[in-house]
Amino acid sequence: MVREEYWQKVRSAKEGQKLSPEDILFLLSTAEREEEEVLFGAADQVRKDCVGDEVHLRGIVEFSNCCAQNCLYCGLRRDNHALVRYRMSLVEIVAAAKNARPQGLGTVVLQSGEDPWFTRERVIDLIRAIKEDTNLAITLSVGERPYADYLAWKKAGADRYLLKHETHSPTLFRGLRPGRELGERLQALRWLRELGYEVGSGNIVGLPGQTDEDLARDIQLFIQYDFDMIGIGPFIVHPQTPLAWAANGQLNRTLKVLAITRIITRDTNLPATTAAGVLDQNGRRRALSAGANVVMPDITPPNYRQHYQIYPGKARLTLDCQEFRNWGRAQEKEAGIEWSCELEGAETVCMDIRNAFLELAGVRIR
Ligand code: SAM
Ligand code: SF4
Repeated sequence: MVREEYWQKVRSAKEGQKLSPEDILFLLSTAEREEEEVLFGAADQVRKDCVGDEVHLRGIVEFSNCCAQNCLYCGLRRDNHALVRYRMSLVEIVAAAKNARPQGLGTVVLQSGEDPWFTRERVIDLIRAIKEDTNLAITLSVGERPYADYLAWKKAGADRYLLKHETHSPTLFRGLRPGRELGERLQALRWLRELGYEVGSGNIVGLPGQTDEDLARDIQLFIQYDFDMIGIGPFIVHPQTPLAWAANGQLNRTLKVLAITRIITRDTNLPATTAAGVLDQNGRRRALSAGANVVMPDITPPNYRQHYQIYPGKARLTLDCQEFRNWGRAQEKEAGIEWSCELEGAETVCMDIRNAFLELAGVRIR
């Protein structure tokens, strides 16, 4: 049953009317399946109207799983001694990034733990080497660093920076990221914007102790900071962390946060996160039907990818490139889907988006 008030609130938000913090909480806190479907449908329509049917692909290279931080939720945390650690060499990272082009990818995201081995100068070398050989847009996602690093990397040619705020609850943040403060993370996000980066942020949905009020505050932060990209993913339990006892986040709750964010922010890039795909094999497909418009294929070499275990099940989302390419060609012929990826020469493409596109007729890939 869909309450009249719920219908009306979703309809007026879809038409562009501002939502108060109470409205956001009201939309978020429904547990009624039919109301959720109304919300997802409205977000899908806003996505279509504001950013169109193209799904943007951003290749991600996970170049080091070494981390000086000890976030309670993350498998890469410093105290996880069971993890096999790796650091790709500069040559390997540049080669992996260059492999993005033949896969039809125009953007590469360079992600790692907070790894001090990658000094300001080494990251500058990396950016320059990639920019010299390709016209790829470079997104950095290497955690919190001093202002001088962000400045130097922007000057060297980095285009975007991805730094999730994780949770807008200072108490939760402090408890889950020992030694770190929410205020510092928000300061870093403001610096990045001032320096001219396109800034991506985002949250984790379903952290132990997190309430709907906390999630509503996350959405308010998204409005306030006007991010260029917002990653909204469920919490996935990692057995080798202090949160091994907790429960996974729920997909529907994650999709509600995503859908409200789409309806409010209109044209922000919203990824269908890998974590959603790990939680449920249809997770990314469902996210693409509830407001998402970006997928981030993992282009880390497979020998390293298996060790980037933020949470279990990540490396499983892999599809052989030949299979992907054959599928793409078949789609082009059969469904009239525009296929602009040039996949010749690619080694692997990781994705369950194959299923997503099979179901989303009319979606174009760029
Ligand atoms: N070290 C950088 C940082 O923390 O910003 C970038 C790498 S970190 C592995 C990337 C993201 O993984 C984090 O922003 C966090 O949201 C997400 N993450 C870590 N552990 C997670 C978990 N157990 N479930 C879901 N997302 C998780
Ligand atoms: Fe390190 Fe980032 Fe994981 Fe925290 S979330 S432990 S900073 S890799």
